[in-house]
Amino acid sequence: MITLSETERKIIEASIRDIKDFPKPGIVFKDITTLLNNKDAFRVLMNHLYQRYKEYDLEYIAGIDARGFIFGAALAQMLGIGFVPIRKKGKLPYTTISEKYSLEYGVDEIEVHIDAFGEQKGARVLLIDDLIATGGTANAAATLIHQAGAKCVESCFIIGLTFLDGMEKLKEKTSVYSLIEVH
Ligand code: AMP
Repeated sequence: MITLSETERKIIEASIRDIKDFPKPGIVFKDITTLLNNKDAFRVLMNHLYQRYKEYDLEYIAGIDARGFIFGAALAQMLGIGFVPIRKKGKLPYTTISEKYSLEYGVDEIEVHIDAFGEQKGARVLLIDDLIATGGTANAAATLIHQAGAKCVESCFIIGLTFLDGMEKLKEKTSVYSLIEVH
């Protein structure tokens, strides 16, 4: 299985910008816009994801609203497979299934089209997002993939915050791969 080389890791890590106290005091926001507009870092990242996942026999990539769309759609196109958006509630026009998850304060909800993964059961899906923190969003997304009749083969994140237990909890449901771990 292909993992990131030290050189690739350094290039990607250096391209991600830390914004302190955004969107509120105490949070260090990992800004991936500086990865996206850095052509070398973006290419290194996408090449790595392509090399890793070309052997997985995937049928779809499911990306989480909104930054998961960017990496997910680019990777789906490289792999020659379909892309499925998992969106915040109220954005998808056809019949959806939805899943609620807890935030620090309150709840949120994400949705997927009921027929997003085709008619056959058990389509092989990779879930992707930019970052996993508490894991609430990714857990709900993995549940939706399952409820829509598909199989979440792996969840992939550019950044994993290991000081929260999101990745550990998600591992009970699906394999988890994060490129850059923040301790
Ligand atoms: P969670 O459900 O707690 O794992 O949060 C994951 C979602 O929130 C992802 O879609 C991230 O884009 C976003 N997110 C959470 N924490 C951060 C952070 N420190 N920096 C950037 N994005 C974050």
